Amino acid sequence: MKIVRIAGGRIIDPANKRDEIGDLWIGDGLIIDSPGAEGQSPDVVVVQATGVVVTPGLIDMHVHLREPGQAHKETIATGSHAAAAGGFSSVVCMPNTSPVADNAGTITLIREKAQATASVNVFTTGAITKGIAGEELAPYGAMISAGIVAITDDGHCVQNHEVMRRALEYARMFDLPVLDHCQDYSLVGNGVMHEGEWSLRLGLPGWPRVGEEIVVARNILLSELCNSPIHCQHISSGGSVRLLRDAKARGVKISGEVCPHHIALTDQFLQTFDSSYKMNPPLRTERDIEALLEGLADGTLDILCSDHAPHAFYEKEVELDQAPFGITGLETEFGLFCDILVHKRKVVDLGRLIAMFTANPARLLSLDRGTLATGAPADVTLIDPNLEWTFDKERSQSLSRNTPFHGVQLKGRAVRTIVAGKTVWKCED
Ligand SMILES: [Zn+2]
Repeated sequence: MKIVRIAGGRIIDPANKRDEIGDLWIGDGLIIDSPGAEGQSPDVVVVQATGVVVTPGLIDMHVHLREPGQAHKETIATGSHAAAAGGFSSVVCMPNTSPVADNAGTITLIREKAQATASVNVFTTGAITKGIAGEELAPYGAMISAGIVAITDDGHCVQNHEVMRRALEYARMFDLPVLDHCQDYSLVGNGVMHEGEWSLRLGLPGWPRVGEEIVVARNILLSELCNSPIHCQHISSGGSVRLLRDAKARGVKISGEVCPHHIALTDQFLQTFDSSYKMNPPLRTERDIEALLEGLADGTLDILCSDHAPHAFYEKEVELDQAPFGITGLETEFGLFCDILVHKRKVVDLGRLIAMFTANPARLLSLDRGTLATGAPADVTLIDPNLEWTFDKERSQSLSRNTPFHGVQLKGRAVRTIVAGKTVWKCED
């Protein structure tokens, strides 16, 4: 047996309510209880973890890896290296590739490419509707056989409520999680930034809060009607947090996730007309940030993700209203969330921060990850929650550089990422 001993770290494993100093043992790529006599062998690989936190490998359930079709922005290989460098041993990729992942063939292609080139686990999603066009349901059964873990039309949003209802009923037959990018097309129109004082001053078309909230409300009602869960992606508006909180209190099976840029930045940054601040949904206001933080504090929102959305520089280097939405995020998200949520704002403690990156997404998507239980795949992240560092986009593993966080100083960083017992990334700084 190939044995690894991660020695002397603070093991935080929220799925098993564990927080203690000790050794974590890995045997042949799985977490083991104790290696017995083999633990004394000189062949044991020892990873020193004194002074750092040992957690289940982090999961980012919302990333765009751009393959197939847009390999000039990112490939599964480069995106997965960026994930590893951010502390993530698993990512869940969105289906808005070219062609769209709305059929078993494309899903199989993505999975085979991941198998051959990715440094971390890549879980795939399928589209809710064919071509993410919002009209005809995609073949869920065949896509499940090909290995999807959820469906979403991310980047787009099913506008027809009857189609969404049928999607929920169909997905429920397979216990297939449904994720939704919440955007009402008629209210948002060609909006490029938060509708408010700054959009008015800058003369840019606004993307109002209600454009998100009305779809969150729709999802709550449909979830109740069908008694079927819906997960609302990248929540940006304070009003959405209130809707989710009230619905959850009534027992509705609804949930939501938060991206770091929505709590780190406001719409005011758009005054530079820098397209690195353009994303969908858009940056909003201090008031929204406060509501998102309250939602994270009270558990209304219980999953963190990046919405890693790479674009080539020449695509972003155009007028703001022409530039595509989205920023890269895999390498900065843990640092941003740890810095803001744990250190600066003290919204959650380290254990809850880790749960939102491990046990919670694993539970939502029924992944056999996010746990250090005996027998689980040995995906492990080592974290130094107090390490102060500066993000340099020129050293990014991603193929793209569209980030507003170049030069930002952060406290908290993943220092080693282990997938199935093998170190796939280690901080050399
Ligand atoms: Zn989206």
